[in-house]
Amino acid sequence: MSESTNARADIGVIGMAVMGSNLARNFAHHGFTVAVYNRSPQRTRDMIAEHGSEGDFVPAETLEEFVGSLKRPRKAMLMVKAGRGTDAVIEELKPLLEPGDMIIDGGNAHFSDTMEREAALREHDIHFVGTGVSGGEEGALKGPSIMPGGSVESYESLGPILEAVAAKAPDGTPCCAHLGPDGAGHFVKMVHNGIEYSDMQLIGEAYDLMRRGAGMEPTELADIFSEWNQGELDSYLIEITSEVLGHTDPVTKQPFIDIVVDQAGQKGTGRWTVQSALDLGVPVTGIAEATFARALSSGVPQREGLKGLLDGPNTQTVDTPKEFVEDIRQALYASKIVAYAQGFDQIRAAGKEYGWDIDLGLPAALWRAGCIIRAKFLDDITAVWKADPNLPSLLAAPRFADIVNQASESWRRVVAFAVTAGIPVPGFSAALAYFDGLRSNRLPAALVQGQRDFFGAHTYRRVDAEGVFHTDWSGDRSEIKMD
Ligand code: NAP
Repeated sequence: MSESTNARADIGVIGMAVMGSNLARNFAHHGFTVAVYNRSPQRTRDMIAEHGSEGDFVPAETLEEFVGSLKRPRKAMLMVKAGRGTDAVIEELKPLLEPGDMIIDGGNAHFSDTMEREAALREHDIHFVGTGVSGGEEGALKGPSIMPGGSVESYESLGPILEAVAAKAPDGTPCCAHLGPDGAGHFVKMVHNGIEYSDMQLIGEAYDLMRRGAGMEPTELADIFSEWNQGELDSYLIEITSEVLGHTDPVTKQPFIDIVVDQAGQKGTGRWTVQSALDLGVPVTGIAEATFARALSSGVPQREGLKGLLDGPNTQTVDTPKEFVEDIRQALYASKIVAYAQGFDQIRAAGKEYGWDIDLGLPAALWRAGCIIRAKFLDDITAVWKADPNLPSLLAAPRFADIVNQASESWRRVVAFAVTAGIPVPGFSAALAYFDGLRSNRLPAALVQGQRDFFGAHTYRRVDAEGVFHTDWSGDRSEIKMD
């Protein structure tokens, strides 16, 4: 379709559900002319009726009209149901676009789908820009964290528009930057969500320990989280935790937390993160434990069926609640740093595997505002990767090594107490085990290698000689040097 004389929209948004309409309004609030389209036209009409006066919108009732209203190179941003919804729209859109035009997918797509879609559309010289968008509906309206992948060429004309509407970090930098080709943006968004799972689980464990282990009431805990939010734990998730714990159910007048069913849901991005980490061979134990903890909470037949059958301590309270709370704060911070370190390891490994070469300073910088895991300490993480992108781990940065080392005693006291008191802390203990695993001079992996060689002749390497060896376990136990 060649450019029509009516082509005046800088960008178009397809999908007028909550995310798409809010993002379209955000573009309009920043002075862009925005074409809007939805499969069921009534949604578009409703959006224009309610918000049409907020900026320059070009509503379309057909995709032809929508495409015809876009300036070239056309930029069509999809905010539709991920999966089949995305494919359906791409198929309809493809014949209407021309070489150099862009389809930007802002939905929560799996990065491998994005890689396939990008390759297929590249054959038609259409840029497919898989873009992570975080911040929920409010973020979409007021400034999300935006994580675009796709070609460098597409970012040249698209980047300034996305950067204009993105959240701004405390230093004024937009939380949007080109992360790398094809699936890089959606991959980084996926890991963001995985870290979000971990962060939420750790906060949940901190709450549980103080509630069950120190007998504190939700309102007291709301104050503690609010106080923590003034220090190094300053983050959106700590802030909303305080709000949730301080809330009273208007119906029963009970603490809101006590009337909510304790079964956590998930939409799948935590699972995707863990699945990808298994493929890449990167231990993301914090994210994995958080994902499994949600599954355990929702495992109704097991929880119901085992009620009263499994014994263990139920009550044990700490003697020094004030010190206990400080221990938990430190354990939370250290465990959180571990979760981020693991997430960055995964991004680096994926960058190598898929040829993305992601600058690790970028995700950290983009997560400083607009998104769910926004936190003060992301400034420090950004600075660490910018200073030395080749650090073997975030934990190798002196400022983070110091924090986890100094937290070590508190961390151990918290995990030891939890184990003795029968309070599950899979997030805290997995993070501590990871820390101990990394600082151990020798790991029992040597024994695993011995076992593997015994039953499967999988061979092993020696600490004192080059080469690969096998012991003749079923024969005279002589050692053979393999070629
Ligand atoms: P949603 O409920 O995921 O999807 C509804 C939208 O998709 C509607 O506009 C619907 O059109 C359209 N759609 C569904 N199937 C379609 C098809 N086959 N062809 C054309 N259009 C189709 O909407 P949302 O919550 O606003 O989310 C949009 C995207 O953003 C999703 O990918 C979501 O994962 C992602 N996201 C959401 C959040 C969030 O906080 N909600 C945050 C970040 C990213 P009709 O009105 O015609 O049915």
